[in-house]
Amino acid sequence: MAEEITQEMMKNARTSGDYDRIWATRGKCVFCDLKDKYILMEENGIVLTISLYPYIDGQVMAVPRRHVRSPKELSRREWETIRKFNYIAKKMIRKAHGIKSMWTLLREGGVEAGMSVVDHMHVHYIPFDRSDLCQWDYRQLKFTPLENVDRYRQLAEKFAKANHSYEEKYKHSDLLNVAVDAIIMDKKQRVLFQERAEHAKFKPDYLSVPGGRIDDADSGLLPELKRELREELNYEINADKLQLLNTQIYKGQYQNYSKYLQQEMPINSQFVWVTYLLRDFENEEKLNPGDDCQDLLWMSIDEALKSERVTPGLKDSLNKIVK
Ligand SMILES: [Zn+2]
Repeated sequence: MAEEITQEMMKNARTSGDYDRIWATRGKCVFCDLKDKYILMEENGIVLTISLYPYIDGQVMAVPRRHVRSPKELSRREWETIRKFNYIAKKMIRKAHGIKSMWTLLREGGVEAGMSVVDHMHVHYIPFDRSDLCQWDYRQLKFTPLENVDRYRQLAEKFAKANHSYEEKYKHSDLLNVAVDAIIMDKKQRVLFQERAEHAKFKPDYLSVPGGRIDDADSGLLPELKRELREELNYEINADKLQLLNTQIYKGQYQNYSKYLQQEMPINSQFVWVTYLLRDFENEEKLNPGDDCQDLLWMSIDEALKSERVTPGLKDSLNKIVK
């Protein structure tokens, strides 16, 4: 019951004047404290969520997880994701609320802009049907925040479709990622693979070797690889023993799963993929798989080269060891 009252109060906050009072009593940054129940999608640290105090029914927002004040602080990947959410929001507003036009309103933080309360940049996607919104006339709303979430989540498959068409049509190819991984080989010429946990499985269900996308280009390839190995194996690798084995350009697709919509969201990506080799590894018993890994398994190179669960790219690297 309390939840229903809260929802109604939120729905009417803009027109009742409660909004100003609510903001005045908020101690912490609301956008650093987003609630899962209002979220629709999340990718690359950007969240697409329902607006709790919308100007009009159906309004959604893109909010960076990081507390940043301005788009200039965003990474290219974050900014690119906001661009994609802009596209998806427009499509979904039309499908959920029948409104074809949308305003995109980027709010920067900072008291200079007369915004003493919200210091966390965010982007409003506002359904726009009549010019009265130019005067900031707040509407009498039909739906509470959770009713709006429900309305959108019922369109989960359409979200996935919009995501797909964006990836197919509009994704710019100039955003290149860098990934680094390691082939760890023991004295019996066996290679260490990771059986990924259910929530982290690739499609198709490939095995992986430890490594991943570089988050911090300032830090350098080897320190980033060391960090990945620490996170994935709970093991401190001696970087001096790593030797560069292979560099490839990878173009492909990986799956991003939206737990909010319960949909797979395929993402096209391009990587410069750098693979290192560590020979004669002998501290097997000290390895301890991380959260995304269900099991560690050792496989001979011959076996791996025949396995359908090893990617062609990884086989290319394994072949370089054999030669
Ligand atoms: Zn914040």
